[in-house]
Amino acid sequence: MLSEKLCKAFNAQINAELWSAYLYLSMSMDAAARGQKGIANWFKVQFQEEQAHAEILMNHVLARGNEVKLAPIDAVQTEWKTALDAFKDTLVHEKKVTSLITALYELALEEKDYAAQNMLKWFIDEQVEEEESAQEIIDQLDAVEGNKYGLLMIDKDLATRTYTVPSPLNKGE
Ligand code: MG
Repeated sequence: MLSEKLCKAFNAQINAELWSAYLYLSMSMDAAARGQKGIANWFKVQFQEEQAHAEILMNHVLARGNEVKLAPIDAVQTEWKTALDAFKDTLVHEKKVTSLITALYELALEEKDYAAQNMLKWFIDEQVEEEESAQEIIDQLDAVEGNKYGLLMIDKDLATRTYTVPSPLNKGE
């Protein structure tokens, strides 16, 4: 079983992942409203990934014999001026999530919970990718700054992103 302290922290992280999902769904709807279908697709996939992150954590809590307690999800921003603004907010948000995951891992170390530590290592690697991909898109958008054709090309490229089930959800089902 997870310790009471760790279980509480896992439940808080589940809420944070679901809030992330809601944030990216909002960014997707906002991009769609701007007519940027590819960017809307990228954020929609991001929304699906965040739901998967919550599911991985929920599965772990249940597997350890603890209970998942779903809390209300706070409101999210609904409008961004430009796609670049949305991706800049994405990077800021992912850096915050990285610090939450790190704090959760540190708690698992304190509690000497080796199973939780192993599971959280996947999230630590995942956060490196999350920050890297947001930064890459920011760099691309910065490079074309204000150029409509360049923005169209980036939108076409981001339209190709597809959702793949993360590896922790793929085994033992
Ligand atoms: Mg996440």
